[in-house]
Amino acid sequence: MSDWKLPWTASCLCGQVKMRISAPPLFSAACHCDGCQKLSSGAYSLTMMLPPDGFEVLSGDTEIGAMHRAEIQHHYCTHCKSWLFTTGALLGGNVNFRPTMLEDASWVRPYVETWTAAKLPGVSTGATLSFEKFPTQDTFGEIIRGHAREGARP
Ligand SMILES: [Zn+2]
Ligand SMILES: [Zn+2]
Repeated sequence: MSDWKLPWTASCLCGQVKMRISAPPLFSAACHCDGCQKLSSGAYSLTMMLPPDGFEVLSGDTEIGAMHRAEIQHHYCTHCKSWLFTTGALLGGNVNFRPTMLEDASWVRPYVETWTAAKLPGVSTGATLSFEKFPTQDTFGEIIRGHAREGARP
């Protein structure tokens, strides 16, 4: 497995929230679902799933936004309202970090894309694997192994 050149630093748009990533992502994804289109104000959201001990907020205040559901929390900068990361029981304790917050996101390319059923016309993500909806639970082992082998890295 090649070097991930960790740790990585990240910040929100205004720079008040600073974050540090110190473990390789389990996988990276683009999601075209209706919810992600609204959350991101874009055609799709970008995610890196990180183990909980591989992610920390170093400075700045965050707040919960979006749907305020018990099982999943979306964290935002209190000042610039950038969507930073997502936590909650639905993620099995992992952190879904938004890789566009990286100081250097120039190498970021999603390994999988989900919900292509809702993909807007003309949109292309460069993902290796595509799923019409969310992949089933028994597919994740294969996704994580494939990403460790050939997922984009800096
Ligand atoms: Zn989505
Ligand atoms: Zn901010």
